[in-house]
Amino acid sequence: MNTNVRYEFKLLTASYAKEFVEKKFTPGMDSGDWSMRDSETGLIYICPRPNASFDIRPDWRVIKAEHICVCDGEGNLVEDNGFLPTVELPMHLAIYKARPEVNAIVHSHPLYSSAFAVTGEDIPFLLAEQGLFLGGSTRCAEYGLVGSTDLGEKIVAALEGGRKAALLRNHGAVVLGKDLEEAFIVSDFLEHGAYVAYMAKQVGKPIELSMDNILDPGLEL
Ligand SMILES: [Zn+2]
Repeated sequence: MNTNVRYEFKLLTASYAKEFVEKKFTPGMDSGDWSMRDSETGLIYICPRPNASFDIRPDWRVIKAEHICVCDGEGNLVEDNGFLPTVELPMHLAIYKARPEVNAIVHSHPLYSSAFAVTGEDIPFLLAEQGLFLGGSTRCAEYGLVGSTDLGEKIVAALEGGRKAALLRNHGAVVLGKDLEEAFIVSDFLEHGAYVAYMAKQVGKPIELSMDNILDPGLEL
């Protein structure tokens, strides 16, 4: 038993299961995953892998603290709770390694973001909140195989420039945050931006914004 493992972080990670399903971040009940990093110990708390031999039904709402896997920054499990981590662990590890300021990751499969992901198109920068919360447009990464280290490297490349989100080509989306609360909020902004961009393309030609053209420079925040 690793004494650095904190039960409250397992509880916190598991507590987002209901929200993940209700926000339709997964088309069924078990696609996508999320994780958090303890900034003090570097330990990563991450969703388990659904498997018929485990007691996890294909429904993320049943995830509880005891299902959450805990590993170090290299992906080594620090305790045996009888579950394997999500197959996307290599992607989570690659992002945490590349982005020390990030302590939470949400990997979702939401409808409109996925529409951009399957065309390989970036989500254009059309709304102020995309600039404020996502760093502007959201790039679509090059295609990578599910669960591969290669996919992680391609996502890290698409996140360059301090971006908070990227699309996984023909797959879904990933959003970063300083904690799980922020990563879940920003995941909403990502999907809303994708939805508006999709609708705007039906109405006419979307007008793109730039980062220096959002806030009044005299505004106090
Ligand atoms: Zn996925």
